[in-house]
Amino acid sequence: MTTASPNASSAAASAADFSQLPLTPATLENLKQLGYLSMTPIQAACLPQALLGKDLIAQAKTGSGKTAAFALTLLANLNPRRFAVQTLVLCPTRELADQVTTEIRRLARAEDNIKVVTLCGGVPLRGQLATLEHGAHIVVGTPGRIMDHLERQSLQLDALNTLVLDEADRMLDMGFFDDIVKVARQCPKERQTLLFSATYPEGIAKLSAQFMRDPVTIKVEAQHSGGQIEQRWYEVKDAERLHAVSQLLLHFRPASTLAFCNTKAQCRDLVAVLQAQGFSALALFGELEQRERDQVLVRFANKSCSVLVATDVAARGLDIASLAAVINVDVTPDAEVHVHRIGRTGRAGESGLALNLVSLNEMGYVGKIEQMQGRESDWHPLSELTVASQEPLVPPMATLHIQGGRKEKIRPGDVLGALTADLGYTREQVGKINVNDWSTYVAVDRHIAEQVASRLNAGRIKGKSVKVRVLTD
Ligand code: ADP
Ligand code: MG
Repeated sequence: MTTASPNASSAAASAADFSQLPLTPATLENLKQLGYLSMTPIQAACLPQALLGKDLIAQAKTGSGKTAAFALTLLANLNPRRFAVQTLVLCPTRELADQVTTEIRRLARAEDNIKVVTLCGGVPLRGQLATLEHGAHIVVGTPGRIMDHLERQSLQLDALNTLVLDEADRMLDMGFFDDIVKVARQCPKERQTLLFSATYPEGIAKLSAQFMRDPVTIKVEAQHSGGQIEQRWYEVKDAERLHAVSQLLLHFRPASTLAFCNTKAQCRDLVAVLQAQGFSALALFGELEQRERDQVLVRFANKSCSVLVATDVAARGLDIASLAAVINVDVTPDAEVHVHRIGRTGRAGESGLALNLVSLNEMGYVGKIEQMQGRESDWHPLSELTVASQEPLVPPMATLHIQGGRKEKIRPGDVLGALTADLGYTREQVGKINVNDWSTYVAVDRHIAEQVASRLNAGRIKGKSVKVRVLTD
């Protein structure tokens, strides 16, 4: 086993240029159009090896661009004229599988007609069987559902050349070890296997030993770019902790905040307190139904919810570009988890804010965090927090839910067209549009949300009448 050093390969500036890689001109042009101007460190470390066909075990934190690292590799291995499944990507959850599918589709735009299919549980098998009969080049799915299809022989893997395990650590947490091994055994022996993970628990080595061939191990350290993230620490009594969160929100007025709690019960309590005080807050924890979870994520990412309250497990793999603040409602006992939590703010050169509430019995954890970060904590008294403005903190957008999605052939452009060309709203009044299989979410300026919903209900999208409602807490 060899270990590549990402620092060595990114020493020369040009080494991070995509044009250094054996990619087609069309792919390079597409990357430019997507705004991928240079490789992220994990991409610069992985792609030269992966494009040579080597097996990889790659570790880098969330948001570092791991998806494109394997997507560009599997696309390079793909023969679009061969109409058979050539790649299988295993992901822990449907939501992550959807994100991966979207990213592969974006990167595959350079080539015509590459068909990517998502196969996850919680969705009727019947539709998936029909989809598979039409053929696919790339399958992205969760281990359980992929096993179902292999057992029914509705999925054939004999033409497969690339197997990807994404978020392998999380799949192990979820108890997928045996399923993954079984799926890997059904893949042809002559293939490339790529394993991606945010952390490197023991199980990974055990897993890879089962079916990887002389893998190259790549690790890109979490960057503690200390200066970018301003951290503040507040001592609280347990009884005042939840109220302190709203004090922080009113003082700093961050546009978007991810608030971490150590337990689901704490998440629930905090959301209840914040909602009662008029904040737009939503909770993300394990036992939400998939549909509810999708809605929560869409509303937070499209700026119609200001505070997302989550446990560490629920927040793993979340891909949200810019967060104004992270609040650690409870201090985590694991210093590495703390670094991951606060690393979600202050990305891509922006400044970030990490606010921490600490009770006396958590002081020991703070010591471990200081040691890990090599810096002392900056303590502030709660009494220093002032209410900057009487205005409640409201998000700029609201989300409309439209019944009907990709399966009804609705595309983002159709929705945008209905709102701008047909109803006369400006492009600025419309935010993110997410089209799922059966439903569509569109963010609009919150002041006009009710009006837009009733006008859309009365009108048409793509010639069809639609059912629209504004999502509220
Ligand atoms: P990870 O899987 O490591 O958590 P993702 O693959 O989801 O990270 O990527 C995080 C974000 O970075 C995505 O929004 C993706 O579009 C973007 N991204 C990936 N590679 C690049 C690049 N080379 N340049 C600019 N943005 C990138
Ligand atoms: Mg990922």
